[in-house]
Amino acid sequence: MSGFSGLQRNYLKIQPCGCLLVLTGSMDRIVLCSANAEYFLQRPAESLLECSPELILGARVLGRIRRELAREDALSGPVSIRPESKGRNLRLQVNAFRSGGWVIVEIEPITGLGSRRLTGTVSRWLAKLATAANPDELMKILVDGVRDLVRFDRVVVAHFDEQGHGVFLAESKRKGVSPIRGQRFSATAYPPAQRDNMTRHQVRSIPDVHAGLVPVLVSDRLTKEQLADIDASGTVLRAPSRRQTAYLKYFRAQALLSIAIVGPGGLWGLVTCTAQKPIPLAPTLRDGARTLVLMATQRLFLLRSRMEAQFLQRVHRSRDFLAADITLGLSPARMLEKYAPDWLALFRAQGMAYANNGDISALGEVPPVAALEQMVARLNAEKGRSPWVSCRLDEESLVKDLDLGTACGMLAVPLPGERVTSWLLIFRPQQGRGVYWEGRPEADILTSAPGEEETFRRAFGSWLQAVEGSSETWKRVERIAAVDLAEDLALLASISEITRLNELLKAEQAALAQANEQLSHAASHDSLTALWNRYRTEEELDRELAKSRRHGLPFSVLLLDVDHFKQINDSWGHAAGDEVLREVARRVTSVLRQGDHLGRWGGEEFVILANGADRRDGVILAERIRHTVSEVAVPGVETSITASIGVATWRPEDKRKTIVQRADRAMYAAKKSGRNRVETDEGL
Ligand code: GH3
Ligand code: MG
Ligand code: MG
Repeated sequence: MSGFSGLQRNYLKIQPCGCLLVLTGSMDRIVLCSANAEYFLQRPAESLLECSPELILGARVLGRIRRELAREDALSGPVSIRPESKGRNLRLQVNAFRSGGWVIVEIEPITGLGSRRLTGTVSRWLAKLATAANPDELMKILVDGVRDLVRFDRVVVAHFDEQGHGVFLAESKRKGVSPIRGQRFSATAYPPAQRDNMTRHQVRSIPDVHAGLVPVLVSDRLTKEQLADIDASGTVLRAPSRRQTAYLKYFRAQALLSIAIVGPGGLWGLVTCTAQKPIPLAPTLRDGARTLVLMATQRLFLLRSRMEAQFLQRVHRSRDFLAADITLGLSPARMLEKYAPDWLALFRAQGMAYANNGDISALGEVPPVAALEQMVARLNAEKGRSPWVSCRLDEESLVKDLDLGTACGMLAVPLPGERVTSWLLIFRPQQGRGVYWEGRPEADILTSAPGEEETFRRAFGSWLQAVEGSSETWKRVERIAAVDLAEDLALLASISEITRLNELLKAEQAALAQANEQLSHAASHDSLTALWNRYRTEEELDRELAKSRRHGLPFSVLLLDVDHFKQINDSWGHAAGDEVLREVARRVTSVLRQGDHLGRWGGEEFVILANGADRRDGVILAERIRHTVSEVAVPGVETSITASIGVATWRPEDKRKTIVQRADRAMYAAKKSGRNRVETDEGL
């Protein structure tokens, strides 16, 4: 057979645990085969080149490969074959996938299974995975299950966060192996290119890192370009990379199996199995482990979305309480005080601030008020109406010049409203001071442990360095929840603002009513004595006149003038005079009947409207009043106080002017006759 081109030294090398064939896209001939083919296929490798694959794989297997690869890029599952062999009971597993214009075929011996009943083991662990109630439990079951299947010394799950930093979340290990659970490592341990590679080629198997590599033979009918076009990097048989070799050395291990956990957002994590001794891992076991990882991945994302839902539910429950309080009219500041401890726990935050129209209420550990005020002003000026997040505030031009205190990350949500002047700010500390994953605190982070490898301490140190000055990232669900909360706070703020304005309005209305009352009181009352003033007294006099005209009822007008009042003022002072006037008003009021009115006519003159009083009644009343006035005593006024009173009784032809005139004349008459007297209008 022609087409033999010999070893291609600088080309592909594979691990010796299987053999590799590359077929043309139409699968009619073999163009490449690994040098170890004879061990598996009982034919010299050279003889396989340019030969028909049907001869090697059999019509049944090739038929199936043709059928499946016509629709898909890879076989739905491996096929097993039993080649004719000289006395050996060899079972092989065949897998195939398309790569560019070529078909890659992997052939591996099914060995190392021992007496294990693979299907039973896998399905038992699958059932266990389905019972996991949270991601922690799930990951623990996964590592135990995988180790049970593959029997490596250690199985760990590493999770990469959004920044690519990793943490070993769960571990299953043989006794005596030092633990690495809780260890963290920085993103530099898995550069993007490698992470990308792990996402594309999710299974990596190295049964023995020290096993010599096998070169491949290539048909001489292949051109250089065609050869360069063959990409066999997807095969599980590919040789360990330098990085993997170093990794195994670092773990003092010879065997490795790693299976990627790929979620909707890309590479979520990696299940890594290591063993100190080589492990000839049967491909069926490897595939079983893969099945467990796939199942666990599905469940992980289910649990995660359930946890997110629970988180939102907890936020919403908190909002329900809030709604109940809104009706109580609590202010947002009071509300923050009441609920912030819950919210801090929910958002895994160290502090919260609520800035509303220049008022800032804060809880927990937050930057100083002056810095908060600046932040809010800048957020308003530069960020407008959308939430803003940062995990490294000290690198943000918006705030880096401010005194941030211990705050490292911030989630800022504008409160919806007419003018965006209100913000809800949630602060997080630097990572490493409190470490969490999947929303739950991690109790047992290892920083270093006795007997632990120096390299691990270094890895943790480099992680700490990498996350220095950075807070945990803000998850999408947390942003959503914060926006919901902010909406409630905004509602609360506007309700409390309305309540406040209403109260202001009420107070203003009360003040206005009082002013009105004072005004109308002032218009009708005398400020010194609080009696009716002249205007109000005249009004009442007119009413009495009309009443008497209508019903013919008598009434009298008494005009009272304090005697020698000027002297009182002159001798004892104006203030004393005022007090005399007040005291006269008080005393006279006290002797009046209901229905009678006393008003201040002006100066030291008073008018009494005596309802229903004829002349006789008027005189009796006047005498009583005169007597009362004579009893007035004011401290500092060392003279007796008297008054002269003129009594005018209603006549049917009377007008206000005429009756007052007669009272005035009668009063003057009393003055003339010596003061401290009563005179009537009889005969006037
Ligand atoms: P007669 O016995 O003739 O009534 O003498 P009289 O001093 O009481 O009368 P006159 O009219 O000469 O003086 C009245 C004084 O009353 C003059 C004025 O200064 C004083 N007076 C008027 N209104 C007030 C007031 O509201 N307070 C005080 N302290 N004095 C007043
Ligand atoms: Mg007078
Ligand atoms: Mg007088």
